[in-house]
Amino acid sequence: MTTHPSISLHDLDLAGLREQLSADGINPHHAAALWRVLHRDGVATREGLLATGFLPPLHRWIEENVGEGLRFTLDLPELVEEIPSRDGLTHKFLLRLNDGQTIETVLMGYEGRHTVCLSTQAGCAMGCVFCATGQMGFVRHLRPGEIVAQVHHARRVLRALDPTKRVRNLVLMGMGEPLHNYDSVMQALGIISDTRGIAIGPARIAISTVGVVPAIRRLAEEGRPYRLAVSLHGSSEEERAALVPAAKRWSLAELIAACRDYGRDTGKRIFFEWTLIEGKNDSPETAVRLATLLEGMDAHVNLIPLNPTQGFEGIESGTAAARRFQSILREAGFPCTFRQRRGIDVDAGCGMLKAARERRVVN
Ligand code: SF4
Repeated sequence: MTTHPSISLHDLDLAGLREQLSADGINPHHAAALWRVLHRDGVATREGLLATGFLPPLHRWIEENVGEGLRFTLDLPELVEEIPSRDGLTHKFLLRLNDGQTIETVLMGYEGRHTVCLSTQAGCAMGCVFCATGQMGFVRHLRPGEIVAQVHHARRVLRALDPTKRVRNLVLMGMGEPLHNYDSVMQALGIISDTRGIAIGPARIAISTVGVVPAIRRLAEEGRPYRLAVSLHGSSEEERAALVPAAKRWSLAELIAACRDYGRDTGKRIFFEWTLIEGKNDSPETAVRLATLLEGMDAHVNLIPLNPTQGFEGIESGTAAARRFQSILREAGFPCTFRQRRGIDVDAGCGMLKAARERRVVN
């Protein structure tokens, strides 16, 4: 008897689902119905699928192939912890994957819109010094289905809170470097943006990278329709390398060249993320150097308040320094805004809830 390694139905896009059914002798037209139930309705259990009332060939195929120990599994992460912020607008989830790894997902409510922040890896190899996930190190990449399942989780929670609300925006700013897990992330975003399912438009999806230069070039070559946010945090090689070890692999000069080419080839604005840290990267000289670096680009600078972590001693910039930094960039002609702080009381910086829980378990 041949045994097949199990793969998740959530890993497959609609074309993949059609191919699979067809290979198993089922009319591929059934794929659309299964896709709708998986991704529009968010059904993620064998029992739920079997209760759906599919036509007999598809019902039989699910019965024989989908479930624990069978050819196909489903991604339904287990909720380990959910913490709403005091203002009730942010919900942070610690989710356990099938192999026991835990990741974080955040549902953020702004005026009239909801954004989900997704993780793309368990841990992260980039080691940014001020980041709780970077301090943990890399464990593994997430599969496409594990990325998609986080959106389904957030949608279920939002539906229970208020059935009239929808998740409209997505940011890939949770645990992990999305462009270090390029293929899985692109497959997941294809599934998430498909209008027959979750249907979050590509223009409402932002990929945040610490500057994986070859992948930024690949995004442009492949004409990927998503928004790009680049975490800079330093405007000289030394300043950046002290905060972002990945800068030793891809220099600031190479990164800015890739961003310029990206902007020129795609015609898109790039969002530059900047975590303001007192005495490290918040001086007027740094701001002037940043404005010079970005000269001529369609760039928006997002200033982010530092989330305190146990493993980093730096502190948040004071209001006066932050305002001065902002006005230098604005005077140079760049839109420059402060990111609203979402739910600091729920350890909203990426990796912070997982780190806090691990500390509780150890103590
Ligand atoms: S900030 Fe992002 S890229 Fe840097 S270590 Fe944290 S998760 Fe990784």
